[in-house]
Amino acid sequence: MADLFDKFEGLTNLRNSLVFENADPYQIVMEDVISPTEAMIDGKHTILAGTNNYMGLTFDQRCIDAAQNALVASGTGTTGSRVLNGTYSAHRELEATIADLYGTAHAMVFSTGFLANLGMISTLAGKDDIIMIDADSHASIYDGCGLSDATITRFRHNDAADLDKRLGRLNAGRRVLVIIEGLYSMLGDKAPLADIVAACKKHDAYLMVDEAHSLGPYGANGQGVAADEGVLDQVDFIVGTFSKSVGTVGGFCASNHPDFEILRLASRPYMFSASLPPSVVASATAAIKIIKDDRTPQQNLWRNAEQLHTGLTEMGYQLGAECSPVIAVLIEDRDVAVRSWEQLLGEGIYVNLALPPATPQNTNLLRCSLSAAHTPDQIDKILAAFEKVKKSNSVNQS
Ligand code: PMP
Repeated sequence: MADLFDKFEGLTNLRNSLVFENADPYQIVMEDVISPTEAMIDGKHTILAGTNNYMGLTFDQRCIDAAQNALVASGTGTTGSRVLNGTYSAHRELEATIADLYGTAHAMVFSTGFLANLGMISTLAGKDDIIMIDADSHASIYDGCGLSDATITRFRHNDAADLDKRLGRLNAGRRVLVIIEGLYSMLGDKAPLADIVAACKKHDAYLMVDEAHSLGPYGANGQGVAADEGVLDQVDFIVGTFSKSVGTVGGFCASNHPDFEILRLASRPYMFSASLPPSVVASATAAIKIIKDDRTPQQNLWRNAEQLHTGLTEMGYQLGAECSPVIAVLIEDRDVAVRSWEQLLGEGIYVNLALPPATPQNTNLLRCSLSAAHTPDQIDKILAAFEKVKKSNSVNQS
């Protein structure tokens, strides 16, 4: 009999072709999480240099207190959808906090960032519409497109001229939604927002920007790359997540579109999934207020990013992009990448091992991401481990 799992043969073979000596990069268990930047992994004290904890807020006392108080006051969960029994005052307050951050009239909270993309994209773009996405878009953007009835086109990664050309080829009168990310999570490269906005304006296209990795690190109030580039008011839909800088879980979309509120009754991933628990809503609200008002975490994050980026560059490593909170070390040979990842872990440094097909341009990446909570001494330790790995492997020396 044919097996439903036959289709996974290729994936199984790929998985089995990765040879690990001591640790499997996809089976890492954080046995004890000590702080935003330290955990016990396989009994060993490890510096975390591959989380999305950009602002380092997961152990912030203000966020913990808010979550604890909400947990005690309102219970462990809402047991219902936002459109039935799952909207508490706190959900509304969180939405008002997000709308305030972006200066928009509306904000809608979803239960994850993945659901925010599914829920927004599939609902906004219908049968007669066109979606144009950056080729390197996150899986949730691709899946949102898959769930919509629109015609989907990709343009070359971060290439506003290619977008302009493709938009120019469309018949007048077609409704188009362009979707990009502020900061791309694998290579750490930023979108050319001003040029993309100009192309969208020229062709009357709507623009959605997913600021998942840029909320926190970028912008005078941490809103993201669109704010940093001075074009926030020209973006139609900002999507984001609470699972990175905000330090918990959840997602959102903010917009000034006058009819935005109808989406609460149209977006199936919003309507047919339970709302976020009170503790999560409370810590997200507290974290977003910190991101907006306190510049210290942002400054510390950039100090750390620059220290790591400069140090790795000086060692001769090839990096994915200019300095950003995501610093991807490109390793040509896949086996060397796997071995280097294991060696780093052996040195007490955890980074993300990212391999094709999950990476752009078939690159093998040791993806580092920084946190405001890293100390300069921890960054020195990360650099020392990379130095040691480089010496023993001659990785990336061309
Ligand atoms: N968009 C982007 C660009 C992401 O990187 C991610 C998470 N990796 C998401 C959306 C989904 O966010 P969440 O973890 O909240 O589901």
